[in-house]
Amino acid sequence: MNKYVTKVRYRLSTAMLIGAIFGKGQSPNMGIRNAKEYIESLRELETVIYYKGNRIIDVTTHPATLPHVRAAALTYALANQDKYAELATAVSHLTGHVISRFTHVHQNIEDLLKKIKLLRILGQMTGTCFQRCVGLDGINAVYSVAYEIDQKYNTDYFERFKRWLTQIQDENLMVVGAMTDPKGDRSKSPADQPDPDQYVHITERRDDGIFIRGAKLHMTGAVNSHEILVMPSVAMDERSKSYAFVCAIPIDAPGITMIFGRQANDDRRDREERIDMGNPSFAAVGGEAVIVFENVFVPNDRIFMNGETEFSGPLVYRFAAHHRANYGACKTGLMDVLIGAVSYLAQIQGTANASHVKDKITEMIHLCETLYSSSIACSAEGCPTPSGAYMVNTMLANVCKQNATRFHFEIARLALDLAGGFIATLPSQYDLESENIGPLVKKYFSGVEHIPTEHRVKIGRLIEAMTGGTALVESMHGAGSPQAQRIMILREGDLGKKIRLAKALLGIPNGEKPS
Ligand code: SF4
Repeated sequence: MNKYVTKVRYRLSTAMLIGAIFGKGQSPNMGIRNAKEYIESLRELETVIYYKGNRIIDVTTHPATLPHVRAAALTYALANQDKYAELATAVSHLTGHVISRFTHVHQNIEDLLKKIKLLRILGQMTGTCFQRCVGLDGINAVYSVAYEIDQKYNTDYFERFKRWLTQIQDENLMVVGAMTDPKGDRSKSPADQPDPDQYVHITERRDDGIFIRGAKLHMTGAVNSHEILVMPSVAMDERSKSYAFVCAIPIDAPGITMIFGRQANDDRRDREERIDMGNPSFAAVGGEAVIVFENVFVPNDRIFMNGETEFSGPLVYRFAAHHRANYGACKTGLMDVLIGAVSYLAQIQGTANASHVKDKITEMIHLCETLYSSSIACSAEGCPTPSGAYMVNTMLANVCKQNATRFHFEIARLALDLAGGFIATLPSQYDLESENIGPLVKKYFSGVEHIPTEHRVKIGRLIEAMTGGTALVESMHGAGSPQAQRIMILREGDLGKKIRLAKALLGIPNGEKPS
């Protein structure tokens, strides 16, 4: 019995014991049943994580990672609340068990829509990234592609994947979908890189499995996940067989090291300055890490693609489309919080009734709901893949994410416009709480009567965190940079059809072409 199976058995017994005491409502049938058990399960892992040059021993207590653990824990907590259980849980098509929606393969359009609604609610509750959707999107992309590889090559990836997924569903594990490679010299393909480790690749093939090496960057939620689903990040050519693979690895498997990234103002978090952190419970964005693989062994039953290069492109595209669809949901949840913060700040500052303030808040709401519309639209226009798993409409998913890269920035711009310059010049929490100068800060940063200055400062800090560098970069580059969407929008835009439509209207022969 390997180390991982032993761990899972221990985790299950712990989870079931605590679940029997604390579990309520329509929680998943088995495995981790609530937020408390999720946090307990992370303590049992032996992950190797570094942050600012030092090892993090316990992600559930370290100030850099704790807010992200809390945000992800909410995905577990919601499943236990009657009000949200219909969105937060699903019935597994593999087992008939009630499972977390974050481990579910979408079976119809209703599933796609429920996911979107769930993500907006979680965005509203956390005001940040709750990280668990990356694994969900990886699961859905691999499920459909493994099926199609088997159809072509008579392999058994699909059955292997379903066995692995059943374990993930029943144990209610969090999976990090690991896609983005470092890429080294971007002008060269994986096979042409001077350093082969710039793309995660197979270093050795054995009868019982493979060894892999390389790194994945920007891995949201990695440090507080249980499993890694490794996928290629680009379409591969025939020379790149050792780069075209998919596999699942326990997060604490030997040879895996994670390096947790810095975020804007993280020193405030490290010193646990709760007011100055802005969003002290859940942080400004999801926690991202580099995952380094140093000759990590993967047994055959955890490999779901192995050298079928032509399927890399479709896999990347399906994953990206699912994740791009999400951005019109989770980010609109964040925008709801931001709009609320700015509106309340306007009340505290006595500007709420000014017509230009109302107009700007109206514009923020309009942009937010327009973004949400595209998320709903790409889900409502979804369709089944040959495996039966449902895909979002890929054109509309790309439009959705492209909108996120613009609207979030415009909403942030309007928020800063309305909030005023004090967002950039606020004295620190230490000054606010100082015996000597605290009264001065309270006096000169006050707003209307009867509202404590501290509340104005807290709202200001929240706006600062939600409109700052890290938060906006995530909207820009998460799920692919804007240019990636524009390439797909043009490719799927069917310009030929549009030209034919214009010609037909004017009676211009279809065969006529400029020389
Ligand atoms: Fe989920 Fe949004 Fe975070 Fe992506 S950015 S993992 S979709 S919450």
